[in-house]
Amino acid sequence: MTTTPGPLPGWSPPPGDEFRLQALRRYRILDSLPEQAFEDVVQLATTICGTPQAVVTFVDESRQWFKAARGIEGEETERGIAFCDIAIRRPDEVTIVNDASQHPVFMHYPQVTGPDHLRFYAGAPMVTPDGFALGTVCVVDVVPREISLDQVESLRALARMAVALLELRRRELEAQRLLAERELATRELQDYQRSLEARNSELAEEARRDALTGLLNRGGLEQATLGGFWAGGGQFTVALLDIDHFKRINDGHGHAIGDDVLRLVGEQIRQAVRGGDVAARYGGEEFLVLMPATPPDGALSVVERIRQSVAGHPDLPVPVTLSAGIAAGQAGRDDTESVFERADQALYQAKHRGRNRIEVADN
Ligand code: GH3
Ligand code: MG
Ligand code: MG
Repeated sequence: MTTTPGPLPGWSPPPGDEFRLQALRRYRILDSLPEQAFEDVVQLATTICGTPQAVVTFVDESRQWFKAARGIEGEETERGIAFCDIAIRRPDEVTIVNDASQHPVFMHYPQVTGPDHLRFYAGAPMVTPDGFALGTVCVVDVVPREISLDQVESLRALARMAVALLELRRRELEAQRLLAERELATRELQDYQRSLEARNSELAEEARRDALTGLLNRGGLEQATLGGFWAGGGQFTVALLDIDHFKRINDGHGHAIGDDVLRLVGEQIRQAVRGGDVAARYGGEEFLVLMPATPPDGALSVVERIRQSVAGHPDLPVPVTLSAGIAAGQAGRDDTESVFERADQALYQAKHRGRNRIEVADN
């Protein structure tokens, strides 16, 4: 069997061949790697029929492709000159040519007239459960030959076994595909889960913060002071800062200007505090700064810096001043609430004593 430039004159595929080709594709056998089971089929075919050559071949649109071959070189030949192309047109029969050189049709085939010197051919079609002949299990010889009924039946049996192998193979491919699909779905689910978790922690973080100033809100402050916040021990300080006469700003310039002021004050506080400090918007125009491991005079200078930066800030639409109260506590001894309370009293004092000032609570 040698390749020629094209099919024999007058060659055309049988009617409905596209359905047969569809059936062939679903097995994904064309151009697949060699497999021992199909090698075994051709080995048995040569032994049973006593021929030097045997092939398991699949007939594609324009070629026949060898899944397994014995005694024959090459991987494929032109369909239009293939004996197997004739054999698959009669799915129920084993096509037998005892001496191709005497056959009215095959005698013109190039593998008969040429150096391949093909004389004997017997091909049993491989027929799928739904009736499509995909190719053949065939035996070939270079001399004319007879074949017994038993050998013909054995060839048929080998063709059936080859189809059973194909079906197995198809199911295995299908199982692999399903497994891959399931793994993909699992991965997608895991990705989705991770994105939900990320979004969740984003939302949780947003929920801890005041939207206007970006400082912690009351809930965020509570979380921050829970658990190990004071684990370092030692002295800590609480400062409460309140904008003076803020109601007047709102009343005189409108709520939007009031909001601008709140944002700017929040910004000054954020810039003044250090890494371990906790700054929160404690109420409407009231802010709280928690300073771990900080004595009152250290806290005083931080709050004084905030007071001055607000008082002289060039971006403020109206003059703004702050009052503040500072109280210190001892980690492990004083609970934060009582220190907040003393800071609040100190703030009240600052308001009482004229505003725009800072008072430090006695210890
Ligand atoms: P004092 O100096 O005694 O602190 O006087 P004050 O006017 O600052 O205090 P008061 O508690 O009387 O008024 C606080 C005002 O803050 C009243 C409230 O409408 C306003 N406020 C609270 N939250 C917001 C807010 O988010 N935006 C704006 N624009 N105003 C707010
Ligand atoms: Mg106020
Ligand atoms: Mg207030």
